[in-house]
Amino acid sequence: MNALIGMDKSGSFRVYLAVTTDMVREAATIHLTTPLATAGLGRTLTGAGLMALMLKGKRDKLTVIFKGDGPAKQILATADAEGNVKGYIAEPDIDLPKTKQGKLDVGGSLGIGELTVIKDLGLKEPYVGSIALVSGEIADDLATYFYISEQQNTSVALGVKIARDCSVLCSGGMIIQMLPDSQEDAVIALEKMLSEMPPMTSVIEEVMLRSAGMTEEAFVEEVMKSIFSGLPPEYRVEKLEERQLNWKCDCSRERVEEALIAVGAHDLEEIIEEDGEAELTCSFCATKYHFDKEDLRRLLEQAK
Ligand SMILES: [Zn+2]
Repeated sequence: MNALIGMDKSGSFRVYLAVTTDMVREAATIHLTTPLATAGLGRTLTGAGLMALMLKGKRDKLTVIFKGDGPAKQILATADAEGNVKGYIAEPDIDLPKTKQGKLDVGGSLGIGELTVIKDLGLKEPYVGSIALVSGEIADDLATYFYISEQQNTSVALGVKIARDCSVLCSGGMIIQMLPDSQEDAVIALEKMLSEMPPMTSVIEEVMLRSAGMTEEAFVEEVMKSIFSGLPPEYRVEKLEERQLNWKCDCSRERVEEALIAVGAHDLEEIIEEDGEAELTCSFCATKYHFDKEDLRRLLEQAK
């Protein structure tokens, strides 16, 4: 288990925390991302995964879309209540100079734009919330989304650290949600702690150094302990649940066929006449689905 949900002893705030190194490595391998694209996509995948930990219904899912006028154009991630996460960045080969602070310029790669969150909670209509991007650095934008669209006070930290060889060294994130009956002193103590907190990836790296023989569960718990160690004992954070977040795409040949049928008989006839075949690539996992003339004719019959 690489994720957990916790709460402080006074019931003032809830914590969602995940170490997503494996998930982000897989995404980077599939999408052949540059370090800058890995950072943007990795933060978005981690943020969506953490938000999925909050879903109540077993079949609930959500999609987070960052769209901007910068070179990355769009970063999208989808996550469900079972912890399956997938996503993509429209331009995986982007590169920009580092910021003045020497950081990967994720905000610059997105530019001016919008964050949209779509939640499918099994109701007739999905819930859709949208805000203008604050910085495009992902975490700030998600925190602002929670504040404006869901009237929730949260703190969001997301991080992807890239190694010298451009691989993913570590990745993780945390969302802290203030609860309705939060004690004022707890809020003050928490804010002080957050203002002094090192970047998420520094905490994870530090735990990595002493992680020999540690299980995944113990590792995440250790990260949590390390982050909240400075809080007074009455606000000590305790683990409520262990959860799992994984990279997983649920595409299949059947689904692609359904999509082709939905294109309609007229367009299918055109594809058959002009190309005689079709190849569709899943934008999430890059799996290629090939359809020859015979396949297309069969789908055409179904579309009619
Ligand atoms: Zn796929």
